[in-house]
Amino acid sequence: MQSNSSLKKSVDFKPEDELHLDCICGSKTYKEYFNPEEKTGQFSGYKLIACDQCGLVRTDPSPLSTENEAEDLYDDPNYYADSLKDKDFWLQMAKDTLKDLPEFISRGRFLDIGCGPGYIVKTANDIGFNAEGIDLNPHPIAAGKEAFGVNIARKRLDEVEGTFDVICSNHVIEHVISPADFLKEIGSRLNDEGYLFLGVPNVEGGIPKVLRTLNKLPAGPGSKWLWVGYQLHEHIWHFSPKTFREFLEREGWEVLLLDVSLNNPYATVEVPKLRQKAIQKVWKSFESIGMADQMVAICRRKK
Ligand SMILES: [Zn+2]
Repeated sequence: MQSNSSLKKSVDFKPEDELHLDCICGSKTYKEYFNPEEKTGQFSGYKLIACDQCGLVRTDPSPLSTENEAEDLYDDPNYYADSLKDKDFWLQMAKDTLKDLPEFISRGRFLDIGCGPGYIVKTANDIGFNAEGIDLNPHPIAAGKEAFGVNIARKRLDEVEGTFDVICSNHVIEHVISPADFLKEIGSRLNDEGYLFLGVPNVEGGIPKVLRTLNKLPAGPGSKWLWVGYQLHEHIWHFSPKTFREFLEREGWEVLLLDVSLNNPYATVEVPKLRQKAIQKVWKSFESIGMADQMVAICRRKK
């Protein structure tokens, strides 16, 4: 899902609903990783904690207490509002996101879970796939169909027919309570030789690392700038290249490629406009050294 900084939390907790998840590796012990509220006043009531065993970072408490709440949270007309304004930009982003895939496969049935208006679906069709997409949010579906003539629908995965050669899910798995169950469900719909394609934010990317360092300063430029990739009202899991690879391997996937060379375009959103040009240069440099603030993995089932 394309994150949108204008999204307001639409699922309100009562204290008894609070869900404190164990790590997906099974460990219950953790230490504090980062508390954005302390410095910036944002994401009140939530903090980031890191598993003592595997290092995976998670939001505590979980922003969702049941998967069913996701349907309400993402049934929001504003969720893809920015994304529908600038089609050329998002199409280029989709091309950059899928750029490594044709090295492995470029034909067959392709499904995008969390497709929004269908930028990835259109791009996959252009590569040569027979692509379709599903999303819980009905609002971008009609607009995307009209703009691109793509095969997209408001459906859950269990409402889609058949199996696929590629299943893609870009910026979705960090939103689900059980990523392991999500991967099992995807696996059940993937052909034996099929490819799993996942995109997620990288909490250990250069941008979040620099900003967390600046956040430690008592005052001054950058001390209140917050990386947009946290999205603590939506993101439960915050992967790094290490924890993402380990998670995928533990769940029975062979990671054929882990590409950390593309920043999230929202990276500059919360930085003052005057400084954006200079800062963008620094941010860009992280892409060339494999420390971008998002990453994609191309996987196959382990034999
Ligand atoms: Zn863990």
